[in-house]
Amino acid sequence: MGRVIVVGAGVIGLSCAIRLLQAGHRVDVIARELPQETTSAVAAALWYPYLAYPREQVDAWGAASLAVFEELAADPATGVVSRWGVELLRERSPRPEWAGAVPTFREAERVPDGYAGGWSLRVPVIEMPVYLDWLTRRLHELGGTLTRMALPHLPRPEGVTVVNCSGLGALGLARDPSMTPIRGQVVVVEQVGLEQWWVDDSELAYAIPRSETIVLGGTAQDSVWGTMPDPAVARAIVARCARMVPEFGWRLERARVVAHRVGLRPGRPSVRLEEEISGERRVVHCYGHGGSGVTLSWGCAAEVARLVGRA
Ligand SMILES: Cc1cc2nc3c(=O)[nH]c(=O)nc-3n(C[C@H](O)[C@H](O)[C@H](O)COP(=O)(O)OP(=O)(O)OC[C@H]3O[C@@H](n4cnc5c(N)ncnc54)[C@H](O)[C@@H]3O)c2cc1C
Repeated sequence: MGRVIVVGAGVIGLSCAIRLLQAGHRVDVIARELPQETTSAVAAALWYPYLAYPREQVDAWGAASLAVFEELAADPATGVVSRWGVELLRERSPRPEWAGAVPTFREAERVPDGYAGGWSLRVPVIEMPVYLDWLTRRLHELGGTLTRMALPHLPRPEGVTVVNCSGLGALGLARDPSMTPIRGQVVVVEQVGLEQWWVDDSELAYAIPRSETIVLGGTAQDSVWGTMPDPAVARAIVARCARMVPEFGWRLERARVVAHRVGLRPGRPSVRLEEEISGERRVVHCYGHGGSGVTLSWGCAAEVARLVGRA
């Protein structure tokens, strides 16, 4: 087993590092932003395949990750909580391909006025501030290191495998022009008693409960780089969420705002998960997870470990 440098300390880099350590590698993580400063820290984060491709692989990575998250939900220290929720639909639509991976998936019995139907399911909600701390602890417990460093290019030391989990940073590090930001803004409000999550993709509204807060979203603006929260957008998000959640909206509207957050999703026509070999140098790329990085993390990490393990 060899030495591995993982570039990136978001959910993808940390999950890959943990699987590689468990496979017996020596692993050092290098990142410009530490876990709580990454896009991953802004994620809502619901297990839900969204804005990530190609469909078939996304479904397989998602299913593999779901199984891991269900296990992690048994330990409160992880910040993973299994919760019921509803995706509301304006028009009747076929079951999503990934529904087969979710045993609780079924048609919602009741939906608010104005909706044609919905899906009801119980899936993990991942409280990212808690979860990223837990992943970082696991990394250190397993003997890995984490160092802050902004890299101008990917390191290519001989005999060391580099795993590139730089998210949107791959635009420069992997010279990949197909990477684009998909800007997402959320409003974090105090927890006012919401137990189940709600999503309306037609309006891009979602309310994701955590133990002490609720994440209200959202936006998905292609090729927009700005990370300053926009107050008008924040007001519109709260109004959309209040309309979406029946008999609860007024509480969301009056809830105290804890934080405004913006993250740039690493958009790509399809996730890049492959190895690149030139001479003695080897890079395994794992980036471009769009709106599903958390949802796909463990499935992708297993595949990265398999690729690296072949050396
Ligand atoms: C508002 C919002 C809501 C979301 N909700 C969900 C959700 O409900 N479910 C879900 O699954 N996903 C969700 N996502 C998507 C998810 O956040 C991303 O897909 C995921 O965070 C990508 O993880 P990553 O580790 O690839 O990238 P990042 O978290 O961006 O981490 C990239 C790492 O690479 C490092 N890096 C980059 N360039 C360099 C460099 N030059 N040198 C050194 N280090 C570098 C960075 O510093 C960072 O450490 C959401 C995103 C947003 C913005």
